[in-house]
Amino acid sequence: MEEKINILIEQNSKELQNKADFKKKVLRYLELKNIIDEINENIDLDIIAEHLLSITFSIIGQNKGSCILYLVDNKTQRLALFKTKKEDNGLIIKDKEGDIFDLWVSRHAQPLIIENIKQDFRFDLEKLKTQSTRMVSSLISSPFASGDRFLGLLRLDNPEINFYSQDDLRFLVTISDLAAVAIENAQLFQKTKDLAIHDSLTSLYTKGYFLERFREEFKRSVRQNTVLSLLMLDIDYFKNYNDRFGHTAGDIVLTNLATAMSTFFMVQESIKHFPIPLRKSLKVIAEGDFLEDVNPLIGRFGGEEFCVVLPRIDKKKAFELAERLRLKIEKAKIVLRRNQTNVTVSIGVASFPADTKDEDDLIFKADRAMYEAKQKGRNRVIKI
Ligand code: GH3
Ligand code: MG
Ligand code: MG
Repeated sequence: MEEKINILIEQNSKELQNKADFKKKVLRYLELKNIIDEINENIDLDIIAEHLLSITFSIIGQNKGSCILYLVDNKTQRLALFKTKKEDNGLIIKDKEGDIFDLWVSRHAQPLIIENIKQDFRFDLEKLKTQSTRMVSSLISSPFASGDRFLGLLRLDNPEINFYSQDDLRFLVTISDLAAVAIENAQLFQKTKDLAIHDSLTSLYTKGYFLERFREEFKRSVRQNTVLSLLMLDIDYFKNYNDRFGHTAGDIVLTNLATAMSTFFMVQESIKHFPIPLRKSLKVIAEGDFLEDVNPLIGRFGGEEFCVVLPRIDKKKAFELAERLRLKIEKAKIVLRRNQTNVTVSIGVASFPADTKDEDDLIFKADRAMYEAKQKGRNRVIKI
């Protein structure tokens, strides 16, 4: 009798365990619906990634250890750290391009579970030591793919061994499969948006987008009672240049000019990915010597006409900068079929509130100043 009771007790406790496991599974899969809804509601990559990581980190990771999303960088075709969630917020994840495990997942395009790193002989731990400084003993990782295209991976790791189960891995794979579509859509959306706001030849802002941003900046200046200057720049006798050297040569001039202007004005959009100390040292090289918060905007206004907004820069300083830019362009040699050539530009400057308090009028005045520069003989800066 006693023996039978013992067997039944054991069976009962097993059943209870099964029931608990089952309940956990059901709850998790119910969460899946929330995950899909949250992700599909958004098209912005950053918001999608944020949702994805917070949900994964809490449901599977129990908010312990780290959860990392790597996405493939389109330019380099390497993994690039996109977003993280960590138990210890002060922890810095140094593997910006992934470690040996991430490379394994990207190479095999297969999920990976490691229960105890020290006992997994597939990986060279010596190599890991040089890559990583944080403590990792177990991990699970799942690739994202769209068709044959590997998009990135989602990984959870923990300083404890055996932290994740096969069930955890299965759930992570399901989440990744669902999120892959949303992530790919968001990336495509981002790309389309970039194409619409950037001119394809020079990568500067298109006129429409530039004007939108200009109006925002202008309103900010009015609100905050700060100055703002506008430069209108047009290449001199560019038609002649095209006629002499050909349209392709003209295109190269336009591209070079756009790059020169971006570095001159330290357009922060192109350097915002750099760490701040590097930006500071770059500022020494750049000729614009701007404050951290100036953030100039440059747009291609027409064929060979450009417009620059300089928030928080007054008329005197704007004129000085325009004159330095004009000289720099005049001196830059462009070598074409062994011919040394150069172009010059005429620049008009107008400022808020010195010249006008109206945004359209500011553009009109800078344009008028530019025409005056043309009339007075070109290759000069005129302020209204
Ligand atoms: P001005 O000093 O009065 O500005 O003379 P200009 O010849 O520069 O002025 P105009 O407006 O008469 O001619 C502008 C020329 O710019 C016409 C065209 O050949 C050239 N251009 C416009 N867009 C492009 C472009 O995308 N590529 C190239 N290569 N040339 C362009
Ligand atoms: Mg011109
Ligand atoms: Mg023109």
